[in-house]
Amino acid sequence: MSIDRRKFMLLAGASCAAPLAGPVLAKSGRAPWGELARRLGARFQPVRSPLVACRDSGGKGADALFASLKNPYRISDDPALTQTLGWTDGWTSAPSRYVVAAESATDVAAAVDFARRHNVRLVTKGGGHSYFGNSNAANSLLLWTKKIDRIEQHDAFVPAGAPAGSEAHKAVSIGAGCLWGRIYRETAVKHGRYVQGGGCLTVGVGGFVLGGGFGSFSKGFGTGAANLLEAEIVTADGKIRIANMWQDPELFFAFRGGGGGTFGIVTRLTLRTFDLPATIGAVLFDVTASDDQAWRTLVEKVMTFYADSLFNPHWGEQIRFGSGRKMSVALTAYGLDKTQIEAAWKPFFGWLRAHKDTYSMGGEPMIVTLPARDFWNPEILKQMPGIILSDDRPRASPDNVFWAGNLSEAGQVLHAYKSRWLPQGLLKGEGRNRLVDAIIAGASEWTIALHMNKGLAGGDPAAVKRSLETATNPQMVDAFGLLIVAAEGPPAWPGIPGHIPDNALGRKEAAGVARAFAPFVKLVPDGGCYLSEADYFGRDWREAYWGGNYPRLLRAKRTYDPTGMFRGHHTVGT
Ligand SMILES: Cc1cc2nc3c(=O)[nH]c(=O)nc-3n(C[C@H](O)[C@H](O)[C@H](O)COP(=O)(O)OP(=O)(O)OC[C@H]3O[C@@H](n4cnc5c(N)ncnc54)[C@H](O)[C@@H]3O)c2cc1C
Repeated sequence: MSIDRRKFMLLAGASCAAPLAGPVLAKSGRAPWGELARRLGARFQPVRSPLVACRDSGGKGADALFASLKNPYRISDDPALTQTLGWTDGWTSAPSRYVVAAESATDVAAAVDFARRHNVRLVTKGGGHSYFGNSNAANSLLLWTKKIDRIEQHDAFVPAGAPAGSEAHKAVSIGAGCLWGRIYRETAVKHGRYVQGGGCLTVGVGGFVLGGGFGSFSKGFGTGAANLLEAEIVTADGKIRIANMWQDPELFFAFRGGGGGTFGIVTRLTLRTFDLPATIGAVLFDVTASDDQAWRTLVEKVMTFYADSLFNPHWGEQIRFGSGRKMSVALTAYGLDKTQIEAAWKPFFGWLRAHKDTYSMGGEPMIVTLPARDFWNPEILKQMPGIILSDDRPRASPDNVFWAGNLSEAGQVLHAYKSRWLPQGLLKGEGRNRLVDAIIAGASEWTIALHMNKGLAGGDPAAVKRSLETATNPQMVDAFGLLIVAAEGPPAWPGIPGHIPDNALGRKEAAGVARAFAPFVKLVPDGGCYLSEADYFGRDWREAYWGGNYPRLLRAKRTYDPTGMFRGHHTVGT
């Protein structure tokens, strides 16, 4: 099958009260580290950062190092690195002092106990994809979950402590160090079951689920957090707990969407699995309007078409509106075959063809369908040039693949990132007119992306109900999608000649993003957003991420982490 690279890349790129004190960072230098070394052996190590080494050598080997940072698996495998290297005027990735490469919950408990007793700042890294830099901190002890990587499928999982006769679920238990690519291979490709994970194959299961977590098919299955049945978690007191609806239910509520690195360190997550449909499909095309009037008509037409024909559990991913009056569609369809997809789109493509003097398309629209099991199969994906990239290190696993659409995010320095849930009322009547105005105004400044799968309105009612039981802001269920406007630069780090972050450009681009976002602030003044894909500088973040759930989250924080041992930027209790 031949697939247009650029289009698929778009698709595949595809979220008070007084603060708790937290440990005193300066003391970590004086902690009796030998105690942890004796207890954990080689699982406890000093962190050696390639960035620090390069800087200290005056930039020796810098070009090769920065080229290697375009490989997300290389970043994932190094405890000194994070997928985002910084944020203009926000933060810069900094290596920890020591790492515990934990292999079990007992190792995690040892690290937590040590950090608590000796007032050491502790951070946790799973996949390392935090946009806010919450999986790194200078001078800290890093708890790295990479080696906790067991995956086990269940035909009849019953949460611990559930009353006799409770429902048994098909489920998968996943070690906290696993990345989504491997989880999909184990669950969908090998066992023919669907599990609600993220779009990006190198995101970690821990940060994703604890943050809420939206994947391409979330309108059909809900958030990652909504499908969590149980987790093993080490809390600040060093206790290993099994939390679910029946055991530590308030803790269970809190870490389903309350945010990673906040309530404890999760070591195993058990998630519901679902039957896979026969097929997964995608529709990809670009269209450019010839003038401003045609552009408005196109934006209006596509939003009407979306509302009338695609606003249902099957459709996810993105529609983008960019400069030069260009619209790019990269939508996924779950459980529809090619005939059904073609039938759904026939009126829209018919309209475009009837106005071909006004609308030019970058080639024929592409409609792709794959057997659902193959959607995450590296062997099949590698046959589609330009869609998938591979880990290019010698001896890397051939299964280490990632969507080409995520390449720009590997090692990125973020310049700006703004997001807002858009209520479904904007798809109808006067609301739609105002939405179209905002899209046109915003797209004249920066590319506007509507992520339809990150709002659950129009979704499967059972999935919506499950998602509402989590800590994520309930606004997500009234939203048809999440608007994202963002800008990023290539891998860069301070002090390395030729690779220093371009702060002037970062600020300029941040201003452009702010101008593009302004019409949406006016459109939805109290709009919330998804905590894992949000603005580092956002105000009112507690309300935006969790809405009315925040006080309950704060109570859980005070119960399970009263001294604020687990903390980060924009986390509950900070
Ligand atoms: C390229 C890219 C693509 C993305 N795509 C999606 C997407 O499709 N859908 C979506 O919803 N989001 C997406 N995100 C956002 C992503 O889900 C969040 O950043 C998520 O928190 C990343 O988890 P992680 O384990 O990879 O990151 P990390 O940086 O390792 O962790 C994120 C946070 O969770 C904490 N944490 C990690 N593991 C644990 C654990 N075991 N116990 C307790 N706390 C833990 C960390 O301390 C940190 O605070 C994407 C991000 C990037 C950079």
